[in-house]
Amino acid sequence: MTKAIQPKPSMTTRSQWGATSPSCTLPNLAKSSVTQIIVHHCASNNTSVTNRTENQHQKWLQDYFKSIGYCDLAYHFNIGKSGTILEGNPSNKVGYHAGNANSYSIGVSVHGNYEDRTFTATQETRLINLLAWLCYEFNLEPSKIVGHRDVSATACPGKNIYGRLPSIRTSVVAKLYPNGPQPFFEPKEM
Ligand SMILES: [Zn+2]
Repeated sequence: MTKAIQPKPSMTTRSQWGATSPSCTLPNLAKSSVTQIIVHHCASNNTSVTNRTENQHQKWLQDYFKSIGYCDLAYHFNIGKSGTILEGNPSNKVGYHAGNANSYSIGVSVHGNYEDRTFTATQETRLINLLAWLCYEFNLEPSKIVGHRDVSATACPGKNIYGRLPSIRTSVVAKLYPNGPQPFFEPKEM
């Protein structure tokens, strides 16, 4: 089934939030090798997230991950507290967000800790737009959108996001297939 074209959503670029260069050479992530999109929260202290701008928190994340020895920000894309999409690790390079799954996945992470924090309607809409575009770009079905806890022993992305994932997948399906499923015909032996 052909997917409807999904425009790239507007997002804050690395240079706009003040990214520094990767501190080492990141391995390439071929488009054809991507089979999953993994949704995370960054689990940062919610008071700190509230007190920083979205750009400041994105830069804080990059500085943090570099300080523990990573080349760059661990996730490929982030959603800020107000719903802004921000570029993270370059999407044609392997990220550092899900252990063994790094080599075949794109990581999307929402700023804050969603065991406690509320996931807002604006954040959810922007996440849906981002996921629909990623499914289109990487030719993936929405069933390939998973939570971090589906692939690792972790609470990530927090219950307030994880509980929304079935509805988020349904919204992504509606964007990719606006005319609904095509008629189904039983296979016929010739
Ligand atoms: Zn995670």
